[in-house]
Amino acid sequence: MINSILFTDMQADYGNSLEQKFRKMLVKSGYFETIRPGELVAIKLHVGERGNLGYLNPNYSRIIVEEIRKRGAKPYLTDTNTLYSGGRHNGVDHSLTAAQHGFTLGTVGAPFIPADGVRGLDYTEVPVAGTHVKKAKLAGGILQADRIVFLTHFKGHMEAGFGGAIKNMAMGCASIAGKQEQHSSGKPKVQLSSCVGCRQCYNACPVGAITMKDHRAVIDYEICIGCGQCVAACNYEAMQAGFGEENDVFNQKVTEYAFAVHSYFGDKAFYINCAVNITPDCDCWPANDVPVVEDVGFFAGTNPFALDKATLDKVSKARAVHTSRHFPKLTGTHNLFQEVYPEVQSDSTFEYLFRHFDVDLEYQIRTIT
Ligand code: SF4
Ligand code: SF4
Repeated sequence: MINSILFTDMQADYGNSLEQKFRKMLVKSGYFETIRPGELVAIKLHVGERGNLGYLNPNYSRIIVEEIRKRGAKPYLTDTNTLYSGGRHNGVDHSLTAAQHGFTLGTVGAPFIPADGVRGLDYTEVPVAGTHVKKAKLAGGILQADRIVFLTHFKGHMEAGFGGAIKNMAMGCASIAGKQEQHSSGKPKVQLSSCVGCRQCYNACPVGAITMKDHRAVIDYEICIGCGQCVAACNYEAMQAGFGEENDVFNQKVTEYAFAVHSYFGDKAFYINCAVNITPDCDCWPANDVPVVEDVGFFAGTNPFALDKATLDKVSKARAVHTSRHFPKLTGTHNLFQEVYPEVQSDSTFEYLFRHFDVDLEYQIRTIT
């Protein structure tokens, strides 16, 4: 079966604004017509870590909220708490960060409800026939929804290569224990010959796993949770993401969690990728760097795996931004994020989906003007 992916680009005009085009894409999908009055509809998004200004404008979620309300249903915004400390580590801080970043009842028209509770302990195990994961630990506030709309900012990710719908489902729907399970074997390594002892990684590590010895960083792997913050913090390419099997295992676990979410919701879920402000790092990072390529547009569909493939293919052909620190590496001939993060095999996600779960990744783009 060829998956139909809706797409609308960034060109807009009076009478055909980006808001109107985004809404048109939702309406033409037909998904919103299937929503019944009274249903609780989760909008799974990312409100951005404190210090990051690259997250999606709250008005995208407002438009989705309005379309859900038209059907008499009850939308709410949701996300899970983070494994690391920061502005979203517990339900209280997470709600405050959401409000500070504009995800308020007044702006969006729906409440923000942390999906795994105040301390990130609320989860249910969902079976999945993965190589590594047999029971995905998914947040109760997500599983209890009648339907779910995944609103994803498509951008890079230092450990997964890229962050799209798959990442939003997998890490984004997992409780803290589920995040730990996915992260636990993908740990970075220090290349001592490149380390200048600047301590940026030491300051960035959320769990105190790094110590400085002889002006070089040393990781205590008993403490390290494999979050990758130190990799992004290092300006000297001394802190390197896990290679080979470790990184492959991380991406396979992420894929298995995403497949668990997809199997659980089936046709009750809808997926939107916004390929705008395509930063090299994810929105969990408390800073947003110059985008690596120009804005591309919005994608939507019911198969999140084909959706990510379609988005990545199109984003990889976009024009590079010359002020990006990654510009010298970008040739436009490969998967964009394989060029940004050469040590991460980001295509392995699709290969694993096809090989292990027999997922159909073929797609056809239907353009909305
Ligand atoms: S990956 Fe790096 S920042 Fe994260 S816990 Fe391990 S050492 Fe600390
Ligand atoms: S950030 Fe990089 S260069 Fe600086 S101490 Fe850590 S590993 Fe070494």
